[in-house]
Amino acid sequence: MAKPRYLTKSRFKLALECETKLFYTGKKEYANQKMGDSFLEALAEGGYQVGELAKCYYPGGHDITTLDYEDAERQTNELLKQDNVIIFEPAISFNNLFIRVDVLVKNGNNFELIEVKAKSFDKNIEDPFHNKNGTLKSTWRPYLYDVAFQKHVLSQAFPDSTIASYLMMADKNAECPTDGLNQKFRIVRDESNRKGVKVSNTLTVDDLKDRVLTKISVDHCVSQIYEGTAEKDKSDETFIALIERLATKYEVDEKLESTIGSKCRSCEFKCNDGESKSGYEECWSKALGWTKEDFKESTVLDVWNFRKKDKLIAEGVIKISDLNEDDISPKDDAKPGVSASQRQWLQVEMEQSGTTTPYIDYDGLSYEMSTWKYPLHFIDFETTAMAIPFNKGRKPYEGIAFQFSHHIVHKDGAVEHAGQYLNTEVGIFPNYDFVRELRSQLDNDNGTIFRYAPHENTYLNMIYRQLQSDESDIEDREELCQFIKSITKSVGSSSEKWDGDRCMVDLWDIVKRHYYAPHTKGSNSIKAVLPAILQSSDYLQKKYAQVNYGTSDGIPSLNFKGWQWLQIKDGQIADPYSLLPKLFEDVSVHDLELLSSDDELKNGGAALTAYARMQFSEMSDYERKALEQGLLKYCELDTFAMVLIYEGWREILKAHKAKEAA
Ligand code: SF4
Repeated sequence: MAKPRYLTKSRFKLALECETKLFYTGKKEYANQKMGDSFLEALAEGGYQVGELAKCYYPGGHDITTLDYEDAERQTNELLKQDNVIIFEPAISFNNLFIRVDVLVKNGNNFELIEVKAKSFDKNIEDPFHNKNGTLKSTWRPYLYDVAFQKHVLSQAFPDSTIASYLMMADKNAECPTDGLNQKFRIVRDESNRKGVKVSNTLTVDDLKDRVLTKISVDHCVSQIYEGTAEKDKSDETFIALIERLATKYEVDEKLESTIGSKCRSCEFKCNDGESKSGYEECWSKALGWTKEDFKESTVLDVWNFRKKDKLIAEGVIKISDLNEDDISPKDDAKPGVSASQRQWLQVEMEQSGTTTPYIDYDGLSYEMSTWKYPLHFIDFETTAMAIPFNKGRKPYEGIAFQFSHHIVHKDGAVEHAGQYLNTEVGIFPNYDFVRELRSQLDNDNGTIFRYAPHENTYLNMIYRQLQSDESDIEDREELCQFIKSITKSVGSSSEKWDGDRCMVDLWDIVKRHYYAPHTKGSNSIKAVLPAILQSSDYLQKKYAQVNYGTSDGIPSLNFKGWQWLQIKDGQIADPYSLLPKLFEDVSVHDLELLSSDDELKNGGAALTAYARMQFSEMSDYERKALEQGLLKYCELDTFAMVLIYEGWREILKAHKAKEAA
């Protein structure tokens, strides 16, 4: 018998992003670039551990573990015969709607519906869910609509009951009551490869005494959603009518057409693996009458950091070849190099003219480089944030800095992989050791330090605050704080203001202001800039087409031996990242990067997943060692990529000066 086509809460959430996705979801014939391995996804998000901890706050609760819809409903109905009962994952259906509630508490005719989220919540913020105009904040929208959906289904299934709805989340200000709490929730796979959490039998009453999760009533927000006052643009369709329409269309598998727009850029059905159908191509062909050929051209979706995408798409200006200067309106911002809008126009112009040579602001870049002091240091951090803290007194989602890599370029041009740090020891809060090691590697001279993007500055600021507020005895607290202040600038939220005299230089900012390579297609991520600089620099191509990395007479490396960075694959220069071994079998680094919903962490999705795996899953010493070696290599390439950008620029400027002098 065919499975009933229920509108579940995850399908409803998908339809809120775009109704057309309901048609593509779950169909094997459509390529879907969302992560296939939910075990790794669970590790990256920490959601399963939070869910399991929430259950521990409700002793005596009954867990319904079967995935079979009918079986789960049968078990739920049996339990609900009791007057007072707590059920985890009960299955409730009403017509063509179906939900599994995280925690359901039944007291007679009253229900508590609790949705558990691996998200941090600050109780000190007054009215965190609303904008000033009384509408719901977009960051909370998916969670609140999810609860509203569940409350609707529950109220239809039990019309005579009252329902109070809650979100349960990590309390940002709560202090962990004991040491090692997070180690008591290990992620495991069962025989059928399904993920689950194994709760240690050493979990004590003390572990649960001061709660790191907090339960927040959201009934007022849910009422607003039902009343239609949650959004600025009031819809003619009520929330209930929306659910009914989506459920009816999903049940009969009828496609709902949506307006194409900027949302399509990150659509999981955008990919085209050449074999499966592309949902994106179907949507865009239908809307624009496009053929296969049209999809070969870049569109306004590809213009870097561009806010007018929806407006232009609505006006029928779709391809980059259709854009004119007025569409972008490039404006000078009176700062060195190109402004954001000038850079957008540069991208468009270069694409339209077929230019492949990078744009370089010779004067601006020359000036920047003249301010740098040798030896140059290139650093990159790998970090994560744990929902359940490692140690007593630590707070949920405090940042963990577990790895860095460090390359040096000397004045004579010599390059070395000078240092690294990796702490994957289970249950250890590594941040202070991390800074101690960083300090010992950087404090030997006064050379310029480079980072790529604000992440390193943000994390050092956070460790500074941790050091300042930590009540334990830290002998070198003052020295560590002074060191952090010397190489960072204070972040906007900091009450104390500083700008270190050896403040790290952000290479990412310099890329954005002084360099644009058409090969990057508008992306400034180091993973896009690295192949672009390799493609365009004769110097780099010549130097790194040799086995000179990790050799006694070449570039010293802590993790590579006799390595050649420039390799040709299928007649093209291979992306250096593609040459590294996979961190996880059958999962590409690209897919791992998609795991994190946090933009700042996106570039480290693979590393944080590997770290979480070492912390929370069973693994042999051999596997652990292999994963550590993989992590060390990836991080080393992250800082070596910065060295290559520097070397590429240095040689381009040298050649330019020589040409000018001739
Ligand atoms: S391509 Fe656009 S319209 Fe089509 S499903 Fe994706 S987001 Fe929706």
